Amino acid sequence: MKTLKIAIQKSGRLNEKSVEILKNCGLSFENYKSSLISSVSNFPLEILFLRDDDIPEYVQDGIADLGIVGENVITESGAQVSYLQKLSFGKCTLKIAVPNNSDITEISELEGKAIATSYPVILEKYLQENNVNAQVRTISGSVEIGPGLGLSDAICDIVSTGGTLKSNGLKPFAEVMKSEAVLIGTAGVELEPEVLELLQRIRSVLRAKE
Ligand code: ATP
Ligand code: ZN
Repeated sequence: MKTLKIAIQKSGRLNEKSVEILKNCGLSFENYKSSLISSVSNFPLEILFLRDDDIPEYVQDGIADLGIVGENVITESGAQVSYLQKLSFGKCTLKIAVPNNSDITEISELEGKAIATSYPVILEKYLQENNVNAQVRTISGSVEIGPGLGLSDAICDIVSTGGTLKSNGLKPFAEVMKSEAVLIGTAGVELEPEVLELLQRIRSVLRAKE
């Protein structure tokens, strides 16, 4: 029997729920401590603990057969993978926000402005679709401080409760993308019986939660 590999986030916002859903499928394994790989003792599966940004490529290239990652990360990576199942956790929205005192109220008013983001691919596509020429400034984190530092006129970042925006004097005005965690698989390969079995278990766990 082939041993499948599933890539999940090593630590961060998706780690706990990813582990939980696999455990709820009846899989028995040691959680990530220091080793990158954990073997499941009662299913032909190995779990790879990775940074979420690396998961789409691993699955695209078939190094992992499956992965659990946010749709935002998949889209940003440009990786070609197949979406097997939405998982109902890790929900968030990528939004454009401006300072509270900004007079920008419409997307067209971003013309010529600088927008700081960690999601340049998704943002560029959105701006193109809306026929706006803006300057996208890529920074890897804490984009909310951009406007306060005079680095940008607006930001495009993940918002879940809006608390971070608020405490940085920003208000959201446009929704760029909704995201949640999804189970992905390598594209263009026939699903192995073990993958189908796992998928079925995941779906019944999700159904039981409804
Ligand atoms: P890594 O160290 O694995 O690269 P990270 O810092 O990039 O982790 P996290 O902050 O752990 O990422 O977020 C992982 C994913 O959780 C996000 O890509 C997104 O899909 C989802 N998510 C849900 N709510 C939020 C939120 N409020 N802020 C950021 N991400 C969120
Ligand atoms: Zn990341």
